Amino acid sequence: ESKGVAELISKNMIRSMYQPREKFAHKGTYGHCLLIGGSYGKIGSMIIATEAAMRVGAGLATSYIPECGYTALQTAVPTAMVVTDDNDNYIKAIDYDVEPNAIGIGMGMGTNKNTILAFENFLKKIEIPVVLDADALNSIAQHGDLAKHIPSGSILTPHPKELERLVGSWKDDFEKIKKAKEYSKRYQCILVIKGAYTLIVNDDTLYINTTGNPGMATGGTGDALTGMITGLIAQGYNSLQATLVGVYLHGLSGDLAIQTTGYQGLLATDVVQYIGKSFL
Ligand code: AMP
Ligand code: MG
Repeated sequence: ESKGVAELISKNMIRSMYQPREKFAHKGTYGHCLLIGGSYGKIGSMIIATEAAMRVGAGLATSYIPECGYTALQTAVPTAMVVTDDNDNYIKAIDYDVEPNAIGIGMGMGTNKNTILAFENFLKKIEIPVVLDADALNSIAQHGDLAKHIPSGSILTPHPKELERLVGSWKDDFEKIKKAKEYSKRYQCILVIKGAYTLIVNDDTLYINTTGNPGMATGGTGDALTGMITGLIAQGYNSLQATLVGVYLHGLSGDLAIQTTGYQGLLATDVVQYIGKSFL
């Protein structure tokens, strides 16, 4: 039986973690994050994630995408840099010459077998903690042996379906949390179980988030979260701080955005626009 604690994420807790903007800062002060993903028809996920990483305050962001997304990404997020894969419609070799201090991977990446191979090689080589989302999680779930290569301190951001692929099904929330804790302990990683009341599982500790609203049940909001957490790590937040601050502010951005858009009208691109205000 696990005897861990459960804690509601509070505004004070998050505020105490903020790293203030320094008067004499320059862009190098706030790190360089790399977002990897995208495939034909799913470049939008990378646009959202990349902008979100910059909106939390990362100094620099590079987006690694297949060739077909080049113009769209540079146009939608002109502040970011782009490195393209040699392949046109999906990633075939994860090969870049930048030196990021945070990496988020998987958004809209697809499951082409060449992409999966490239991802496997990437995971085996990488040594810094990474944020793993979407198709990165699906590959890990499908290739059982891969999980042992997850760098310690990495963050996995599954929605319930992705979690089920990773840990198997559960009969109630107690069993779900138990399985997530086991996974977190075995692979030394943080699990973010997304949904209304997102749960964060770190070893034996469970954190419960209360920000966010059902307007956020719309395509792309998860990609924004991955970008935010990655952008926070780039700036020097540790994995747990970046996860807690990212999840809380992501929900708060959605809560601020619906004041303008309403629930039905909310788009993931709106959530991203309110990230800056959510810090206040
Ligand atoms: P994804 O399924 O990967 O696009 O992620 C969806 C994101 O939106 C997650 O961060 C969820 O926590 C959030 N979200 C979805 N539905 C709700 C809801 N009903 N209430 C609060 N947040 C939600
Ligand atoms: Mg998602």
